[in-house]
Amino acid sequence: MPAGRPPKNKPEEISTAVETPEVVETQAEPEVLPPLTQTDLLTIIASMQKQLVASQSATAQLAAAIKDLATPKAPIKSRKQIADEENEKLFQDRQIALERTKKANDNYLHSICEHIAGSNKIGEGFKDLQGRTSYQWHRNDVGVEIGVCSICQDVLLPDNPRYMEWRRKPAFGKMSTAGQRTVMNFADALEKSVLRDS
Ligand SMILES: [Zn+2]
Repeated sequence: MPAGRPPKNKPEEISTAVETPEVVETQAEPEVLPPLTQTDLLTIIASMQKQLVASQSATAQLAAAIKDLATPKAPIKSRKQIADEENEKLFQDRQIALERTKKANDNYLHSICEHIAGSNKIGEGFKDLQGRTSYQWHRNDVGVEIGVCSICQDVLLPDNPRYMEWRRKPAFGKMSTAGQRTVMNFADALEKSVLRDS
């Protein structure tokens, strides 16, 4: 039996009226927009085009960024690394300057030295009356005779233009010798047997 009203006066009368909930009309009235003018349309189109251009530009920027990421780069250096490298450079520059100064100083000392035994300006000795040189000669293990001035430490190697002149002169000291070495490649051993200034 459908839900109905309680029977009224006439029980035989069956109500057929089923209460139906009132349907509320929710559909709002469609908002009526004013018709678009040509200017409005043009404005909209212009705005869309602007968006499109902006989007294209963003895409291009993104592509550039991706490409940039793929490009190998030099490692980023920390502040400490940069400072260390600068210090190292300063140190090297100073070292080079020091060596240059030392060499200039040595050259000066060689130039003022008479290379005569006892001629040292700051020494107490007497200049050798026989004029014997202050070069101390040493024969190394492949037979090369090297002269070192005992006053100014000038080194005479056989390829020095002054070598023969001083080698002929009698020296104050006795020749010192190293043991003899048998070598297979004499020229090579000869070259390697002497230390040279770089
Ligand atoms: Zn000397």
